[in-house]
Amino acid sequence: MAIARFKALELAQTRQNVPVKVPTEKVTDFYGSNTFNDEVMRSLLSPEAYLKITNAIQDGKKIDREAADEVAAAMKSWALSKGATHYTHWFQPLTGTTAEKHDAFFDITHTGKAIEKFKGSALVQQEPDASSFPNGGIRSTFEARGYTAWDPSSPAFIMENVAGTATLCIPSVFVSYTGEALDYKTPLLKSIELIDKAATKVMNEYFNRDVSKVTVTLGAEQEYFLVDEALYNARPDLMMAGRTVFGHSPAKGQQLEDHYFGSIPSRINAFMVDYELEALKLGMPVRTRHNEVAPAQFEVAPTFEEVNLACDHNALLMDLMNKVAVKHKLRVLFHEKPFAGINGSGKHNNWSLGTDTGINLLSPSTKPKENLRFLTFFVNTIKAVHDHADLLRASIATSGNEHRLGANEAPPAIVSIFIGTEMTRVLNDLENLSELNDIKLEKGDNVYLRLGINKIPALLLDNTDRNRTSPFAFTGNKFEFRAVGSSANSAAPMTILNTIMANQLFKFREEVDAILEKGVKKELAIVEVLKSYVKSTKRILFEGNGYSEDWVEEAASRGLSNLKTAPEALAKYLDPAAIELFSKYGIYTETEMHARFEIELENYIKKVQIESRVVGDLAINHVVSTSLKYQTQLVDNVRGQKEIGIDPQYFAPTIEMIKKISQYTSKITTLCDDMTEARKEANNVEDTFERAKLYSTNIKSFFEEIRYCVDKLELIVDDDEWPLPKYRELLLIR
Ligand code: ADP
Ligand code: MG
Repeated sequence: MAIARFKALELAQTRQNVPVKVPTEKVTDFYGSNTFNDEVMRSLLSPEAYLKITNAIQDGKKIDREAADEVAAAMKSWALSKGATHYTHWFQPLTGTTAEKHDAFFDITHTGKAIEKFKGSALVQQEPDASSFPNGGIRSTFEARGYTAWDPSSPAFIMENVAGTATLCIPSVFVSYTGEALDYKTPLLKSIELIDKAATKVMNEYFNRDVSKVTVTLGAEQEYFLVDEALYNARPDLMMAGRTVFGHSPAKGQQLEDHYFGSIPSRINAFMVDYELEALKLGMPVRTRHNEVAPAQFEVAPTFEEVNLACDHNALLMDLMNKVAVKHKLRVLFHEKPFAGINGSGKHNNWSLGTDTGINLLSPSTKPKENLRFLTFFVNTIKAVHDHADLLRASIATSGNEHRLGANEAPPAIVSIFIGTEMTRVLNDLENLSELNDIKLEKGDNVYLRLGINKIPALLLDNTDRNRTSPFAFTGNKFEFRAVGSSANSAAPMTILNTIMANQLFKFREEVDAILEKGVKKELAIVEVLKSYVKSTKRILFEGNGYSEDWVEEAASRGLSNLKTAPEALAKYLDPAAIELFSKYGIYTETEMHARFEIELENYIKKVQIESRVVGDLAINHVVSTSLKYQTQLVDNVRGQKEIGIDPQYFAPTIEMIKKISQYTSKITTLCDDMTEARKEANNVEDTFERAKLYSTNIKSFFEEIRYCVDKLELIVDDDEWPLPKYRELLLIR
């Protein structure tokens, strides 16, 4: 009997809910209690130091030594009062996870006295031994020094450890000795500054002098799967690759879609309540939880926040979920496609722009003047995405997302934009406006009325006008970048989106200003430019079913890219135009672009390599060996039947089964041998890009073929003997 699998099943079936200690206070009483937030700073800092740090938070101003020392002292006493024994710079290297290196507050003075120490210098900068974080060739190992530097705009927080102790975590950037970014946060911060500059200028010059800051807002809806710990441990593929490489579809999959928004199983609910409480204490505004379409799939969504904070919070939330899951004997799968034939998981990045005066720039209004403002930002977003669709695609290219893009219930690899019926009509009207030069405005004439943009129906916010198959959709007052992978660090796509939008807004201003110089009225000039954008970007707008074959064809005829594999998408980072764009604004230097390209390719190769080894190992050592054992039983059985004189027609079907087992096992063995050869060949290729391409084609192509045979064997071999927990067990056990 497949002992490990059945032991796991028994464990999974007899789990008890883990009780959660729910505080008696209201959420508002403990929200953010584990963060070094404004309230704490106000109470612990001198007015001067408080002012300096708020300036740093709001305007990125530098903090002097004296203030840093004071903040450090306050942070230390606050952290100690929370039970913290250690502190760490918490950062997001390009491995895709978060990193920390804990140092104790505790220290010994030269006289041997024990003290708790934390100076401003330790707060501001650290030098972790970071030689093994990916750097894409920026740092040579003999000079493997990377620095982490405090990001005051994201509040420090207390992470409680399982052992009952706690650590003060200080959100930080991670840069090389020579100043190049080695993380996700550094370029994001630069892009935030850039888009603020671009959007504030547009606001000040054309719409509103009061605005002095424009902030990017992000609400990241996070999808994930949950699997019981014992079953997870009995699936080496889940443990090592984060996804199942084999498994026949269960009789009941998601066909009935009865899991969607269904009641949440109580054990899962306990887990959700538990991590949400921790998240709330850490100042993360988690609000929504529900079942997703696929069985065992769920979603958590916070209220949107400033994008730097939102990205930190999402990365932290994923960490937290992993930690809390262990307590509940569950494992979280953040992989984009953990199960074949079933929905994948995304991280829908809801993106918008907000002013310091409280305006959402992507929110339509019933006031004509505000509508022109809305249309300006709306159409410029479309133009930015249209002109740089390939960069957006590159920003979400990973081995995991490659399985998801274009697969069942997932945005296709083609970047298109959905805007809904109403906005389609509005843009059509705009496009069909008469020659603007013909519009002669009389005194007292209403320019908006004459332009026909006096009103955009309030219907827009109606949730029914949704297209779940679009990778980039307007949803009433924000754009939702749905193609982002569930395991991604949102900072990568957000950096790209911010940069292309900022660049577009700069260009927009140049174009409008050129017309203004001819003495044209401002509103007309703006509309003229928007009109030209609407005309030139039409091909990227698509309202139909993004998952259909027809769309793939039509998109091709429209000349839209369909970059199916991650390596070919990543290559877009190195287009001369892309390098120029990013270096022009100092978001990425050319060296950094090359480094990122290298790192992403290396990540890709490593992941596919691991999968390939797991596929080979499981296929040969688990599946083929078990199948052959079972086949021997069948052979014995046939022999026995013959011996006692049973009519051959009765065991003919058994002989057929024996043949099938031979056929599949021999095919698997040959394919695995060939795959190993292909891997060897690929590994001999020096150039990273060429090697990644081989992995994405030559090596990955074996996965499906091997899987086909394995899944067939799963249906033949005695269930008692099958070594791997089956899909129905992984997905349907609560
Ligand atoms: P949905 O119908 O997609 O679930 P919601 O209104 O619930 O729409 O929003 C989904 C996510 O979008 C949430 O995280 C929400 O906070 C976020 N969101 C709402 N408004 C904005 C905005 N102006 N900017 C960024 N994100 C937003
Ligand atoms: Mg949504």
